[in-house]
Amino acid sequence: MCGIVGYIGHREAYPIVIEGLKRLEYRGYDSAGIALFDGTDLKVSKTKGKVSDLEERVETQISKSGNLGIGHTRWATHGVPNDVNSHPHVSNSGDLVIIHNGIIENYESLKKELIKRGYTFKSDTDTEVLINLIEEVKTIEGVKLGKAVQIALNQVVGAYAIAVFDKNKPEEVVVARLGSPLAVGIGEDEFFIASDASPFIEYTKNAIYLEDEEMAIIRFHKGIKVRKIKDDSLVDPYIQELQLNLEQIEKGGYEHFMLKEIHEQPKAITDTFRGRLLRDEAIIKMGGIEDNMKKFLNANRIIIVACGTSWHAGLVAEYIFEDLARIPVEVEYASEFRYRNPVITENDVLIAISQSGETADTLAAIKMAKSKGAFVFGVCNVVGSSIARESDAGAYTHAGPEIGVASTKAFTTQITVLSLIALRLARAKGTISSSDFRRYLLEMEMIPEKVEKALESDAHIQEVSEIYKDAANFLYLGRGYNFPVALEGALKLKEISYIHAEGYPAAEMKHGPIALIDENMPIVVIATKAEHYDKVISNIQEIKSRKGKIIGVITEGDTIVRDLADHVIEVPDTIEALSPLLTTIPLQLLSYHIAVMLDKNVDQPRNLAKSVTVE
Ligand code: GLU
Repeated sequence: MCGIVGYIGHREAYPIVIEGLKRLEYRGYDSAGIALFDGTDLKVSKTKGKVSDLEERVETQISKSGNLGIGHTRWATHGVPNDVNSHPHVSNSGDLVIIHNGIIENYESLKKELIKRGYTFKSDTDTEVLINLIEEVKTIEGVKLGKAVQIALNQVVGAYAIAVFDKNKPEEVVVARLGSPLAVGIGEDEFFIASDASPFIEYTKNAIYLEDEEMAIIRFHKGIKVRKIKDDSLVDPYIQELQLNLEQIEKGGYEHFMLKEIHEQPKAITDTFRGRLLRDEAIIKMGGIEDNMKKFLNANRIIIVACGTSWHAGLVAEYIFEDLARIPVEVEYASEFRYRNPVITENDVLIAISQSGETADTLAAIKMAKSKGAFVFGVCNVVGSSIARESDAGAYTHAGPEIGVASTKAFTTQITVLSLIALRLARAKGTISSSDFRRYLLEMEMIPEKVEKALESDAHIQEVSEIYKDAANFLYLGRGYNFPVALEGALKLKEISYIHAEGYPAAEMKHGPIALIDENMPIVVIATKAEHYDKVISNIQEIKSRKGKIIGVITEGDTIVRDLADHVIEVPDTIEALSPLLTTIPLQLLSYHIAVMLDKNVDQPRNLAKSVTVE
């Protein structure tokens, strides 16, 4: 997690680094720090708290001049968030300085060794161990910084994206990556370093994304050299032209990124199926599927691995794949799957879902499945991300940058991509009739408009939020395709409002959660017109008998649930398999408004970070 930024060139580094940290703050925000070199002095300022706290501290602590700078916004793994544990970390001599995203797993044994050699440590971090290891190698071996970094990294177990410089050689910055993302922006005689391209988008459109086990030595006036960390071989880096623009990463008039991203869903879903769903020709065209159709059609089963919200999208996909394409599906938490010695064969297809494409556990699950011969298909949002590169084939969600930590448009666009795949496979297998297929295509095309309609309930959802914002617990219930939506609704509320919430299959309620129901318990029931509509009505009656407060998400015009529920929120009618794309919308808005009313930090909820690059 965590965001790293760096600059070396002819401009003042401070504004670039500080603005860059603000753009990366979604990645981690428990502390922040900066190191600047102005030709004479190395100046370090760091603090627990947000980038805005860092800005205040810098004002009184250091001068902001210097053409070389690195900065960090932290998501603590080793050592509590406090000033001392914040990055950058400086080596014992005071010469070397580092920022680090990731975990050095063998830091304890390395630290013991360094202590024996006389090193002292101020912080509890693994990162401070790494910078002193680099210093030790540099001193003992008498090598330059780049070489010292390389030798040190070859002794390290874990994950990292790092930037290091030596104040005695300020024309050079060394960067390296393994498991955590790192992009280098190439300008005119200037270089930008960042966890993703957003900090430098207004300065250059050219970027190199380092691959795992690569490092680069960046020299002002002299350019960049990329090497393999293991064997020192030179790499000819691919310079990518960035598609991102500034507007996409700003709030665009909304109070929060989350709200902006909720409202972007009609466009994001359209972007996801654009060029893939060709209704006039009645086809779905997806390169990654067409090229590997045999793999999918001959698959024994599809295993979906993901974490968090993406896992919920995977559960929705399980319903649609089995329902339409009749392929057996298993949905797994990547973190469990990778460590439980699962049976994987060459006839399995593994679909890995991740917004960032950097989720550490999902990436590890991919590597394991590949080593056992499975075919890996990645579904992610961030172009060029590790999962995109590591997969055999894949499909991007094209949702545009998602900055709010609570995922919204990533979820609906993941469901869109997965539904397209399921439909395409169903067509190829002949498990769907051509008239049904056409009906799905037509309906899918209408989803953005219907999401727009669902968003119109915003004012009403605010009223409902006001009534229940002080509840201590919430229950979310749904059946079939909308069971995962119930899980996702509960997760959204937990993440940003810190209210305890549980999602449950409506019928399972009787096996436990029903004991929690009394007049103080709000229960969100997804009760749209669907195959098991009548059964959901029975569940609502059961709640009512126990005086629970019912917030029903219903199909437009439905009067039955309206009469039973305390409140209803309408969504347009659609095919059941596509209904999660609509029923999710009010649940996103409900959690958003409750969190705002409770004065919580919606875009940066406590303890969370956007892309989970540590396991
Ligand atoms: N392991 C480092 C620390 O705890 C870096 C964590 C991060 O990626 O923010 O300070």
